Amino acid sequence: MKIIVASSNKGKIKEIKKYFSDFEVVPYSELLELFEIEENGKTFKENAVIKAVTIYEKLPGNIVLADDSGISVPALGNIPGIYSARFAGENATDKDNLYKLIDELKKRDIKKTPAYYTAAIALATPYGVFTTHGFMRGNVIDEARGDKGFGYDPMFIPQGYEKTLGELDEDIKKNISHRSKALELAKIIIKTI
Ligand code: IMP
Repeated sequence: MKIIVASSNKGKIKEIKKYFSDFEVVPYSELLELFEIEENGKTFKENAVIKAVTIYEKLPGNIVLADDSGISVPALGNIPGIYSARFAGENATDKDNLYKLIDELKKRDIKKTPAYYTAAIALATPYGVFTTHGFMRGNVIDEARGDKGFGYDPMFIPQGYEKTLGELDEDIKKNISHRSKALELAKIIIKTI
């Protein structure tokens, strides 16, 4: 079965492909010209639905999967949250965003503090729109360690571990991540429809 992913984020696509290895996973950019989707929702769920439905309208009859995700730091008022991808500005790179969050911790002299990742998955299908969520708890630290994963992974230590997701094996992340948990629920829906 073909699943079209409504994202151009290489890190996300790699993880989704790894997770759905028994399905054909195709980024929408292989079927359509890349274009900007305005994510003006107030929650991860709303933004995931906006992305999935926008691509579904251009490729009706398919299963379109969108992920909206981010990291929240309660000690900083839950930033960057839904703004994780554009925390350091509209055209910010993953590295810009990572170092901006590290700077925010340094400004407040915080070396380590609890944080959590959220992933909302939306499925736009011929049978309707479905959504799932997954979370991963841990701590963020005021430095980047390791170069595995993507985004904020080099500063995030998952609960029960001593190393960051930048240092840990990618298979460990696959077993515990917010995205894997949300995709596991999405897989049940896909198999049902
Ligand atoms: P979105 O593409 O609007 O959903 O933004 C997601 C952003 O959240 C990414 O660009 C990363 O900055 C961050 N993010 C989401 N999931 C992860 C993850 O698994 N690791 C690291 N950063 C993540």
